Amino acid sequence: MIDQNEFPSDADPFDIAPVRLTVDLGALAENWRDMARRSGSARTAAVVKADAYGLGLEDCGETLYEAGARDFFVAVVQEGVTLRAYAPEARIFVLSGIWPGQERMFFENDLVPVIASEEQLAFWMSVLVEFGDYPCALQVDTGFNRLGLPMQDALALAEDVSRPASFSPVLVLSHLHSGDTPSAASSKAQLESFRQVSAAFEGIESSLSASAGIFLGPEYHFDLTRPGIALYGGEAVNGMKPLRPVATAEARIVQIREAAVGSTVSYGATHQLERASRLAIASVGYADGYLRSLSGSGIPLRTGGTGGGFGFIGGYRVPVIGRITMDLTIFDVTDVPDGAVRSGDYIELFGPNMPVDEVARAAGTIGYEMLTSLGLRHERRYLEAE
Ligand SMILES: *Cc1c(COP(=O)(O)O)cnc(C)c1O
Repeated sequence: MIDQNEFPSDADPFDIAPVRLTVDLGALAENWRDMARRSGSARTAAVVKADAYGLGLEDCGETLYEAGARDFFVAVVQEGVTLRAYAPEARIFVLSGIWPGQERMFFENDLVPVIASEEQLAFWMSVLVEFGDYPCALQVDTGFNRLGLPMQDALALAEDVSRPASFSPVLVLSHLHSGDTPSAASSKAQLESFRQVSAAFEGIESSLSASAGIFLGPEYHFDLTRPGIALYGGEAVNGMKPLRPVATAEARIVQIREAAVGSTVSYGATHQLERASRLAIASVGYADGYLRSLSGSGIPLRTGGTGGGFGFIGGYRVPVIGRITMDLTIFDVTDVPDGAVRSGDYIELFGPNMPVDEVARAAGTIGYEMLTSLGLRHERRYLEAE
């Protein structure tokens, strides 16, 4: 029989977690204020879709609200319902609009649907007939071909004297497709189109820019800007240094092993050691969003020639070798001085020493995907804003 009194006292789960995530809410708040300054005279919203880019809608939403954000964008209505408790006085826009059956969720939580197609517009008009005035936003497509009324339909709607008076959009918006590439001529063309839309809906606020567009200059700001990725410390504009890092992902080293020259590593034996090596086995895998495309070798679909991802430990960058597996990843720590890496230590997967966008590039993807792929196993710690 085990004597329960013999158990050691419970450790803080974060200190013993196989894989863990630290979210610096102070940096998040600072990044929002930074984007608000860059937005000049425009108001600055906060985009918190996909669980605040994987970092936690409740904590991030509350922090952004306390930092001063009063306009929020979510992708789907359920996110709006969750956010409402943390952002009581804010306007919450639902980017995917409203579907029949969701009316109550919208009305009870004071959520604003972003109407983005003719079909949704027709449904919305019928809702207004039944329930009376209720605010909405209108998305107009200026070249993305994703969501939004076609330009001509939007301009016709603006001019339509027969439209019901209860149809009262509080915001018209559009979205740039290449804002992250400052040289793209298309942003200018989208800007010109959106100016027409904005003028047609005179007296109604307008919004064009996400994180990247804010850097394109004041003419892109209109009344409201919509930063997302920049708030979370990701790269908004290609090649431009991001704002403060917010998320740090780490995994525990569960074993250090000495491996012989000529032996092979991980599934498929795609990496053969060219020297006697010291390997650190970390308890993180693709099930935790440490994407398999970060593997050191043996990933036939990866193009671009990079050699896989790196972690950061004991002051050193160490490469992933062989294939990443579901729960475990192997790092080559041979070049780290003896004793600087031990089992039980944590290796940084991304964070202040290993920029998330650099890791993403090694995986053939973008920081957005690294963040929103964080799995359910990460033990989370939130560093409170001041
Ligand atoms: C996701 C999204 C944003 C935020 O984009 P970032 O690049 O993360 O700043 C803004 N507007 C719309 C319509 C979006 O879908």
